[in-house]
Amino acid sequence: MKIIFATHNPGKIEEMRVLLADANIEVASAEEVGVLEDVVEDGETFAENALKKARFVVKQTGHWSVADDSGLCVWALGCLPGVRTARWAGEGASDEKLIEHTLETMKEIPEGKRQAWFESSVALVAPDGEEWVFTGKVSGTISTLPRGSAKIKLPYDVLFVPDGYHQTFAEMSDQEKNQLSHRGRAFTQLKTFLAQYAK
Ligand code: IMP
Repeated sequence: MKIIFATHNPGKIEEMRVLLADANIEVASAEEVGVLEDVVEDGETFAENALKKARFVVKQTGHWSVADDSGLCVWALGCLPGVRTARWAGEGASDEKLIEHTLETMKEIPEGKRQAWFESSVALVAPDGEEWVFTGKVSGTISTLPRGSAKIKLPYDVLFVPDGYHQTFAEMSDQEKNQLSHRGRAFTQLKTFLAQYAK
């Protein structure tokens, strides 16, 4: 089975390859199959945006496609930035700018009130248009200083400390992060589904 991962985010591609390494699935990125455009992510929910990205790639290629839409939700900010996580510091903001903006926006929020969660909706779309969505979440807190080094386009890893741990995601190995993370949890459901489906 060949699945195109509808993303141009190298960090997500790397994570997906690790996550699906032991599944009998050939994974190609959108770029590898010549899909270079991005869709406009104007949905109100992670699931809407993920479906939009995967449908676009199925239309372009005729292959199965999977897409993740994810983001950070901070309780004290009324669950922001949510679907605007990539853009809330301005369109095209760098990873450094996103971290700076997050710390600045949260500077008055004391430790103990910095609870947040990461959420990921993973959409799977078949060539015949059938669709599924798998959702994963992980709760944690936002640190007051960046720690560790994050993958490109996954900047918030340096700030996010999952509940029950002292390290940020950026201080963990890929395997450790994948076991806990929103995307890891959503992809685990996808893997289970595909194993059943392929039987
Ligand atoms: P998307 O690529 O449109 O889904 O945007 C997701 C936003 O959330 C981007 O700014 C990502 O950097 C951020 N994000 C999603 N997952 C993670 C993660 O695992 N670590 C750090 N940042 C993440």
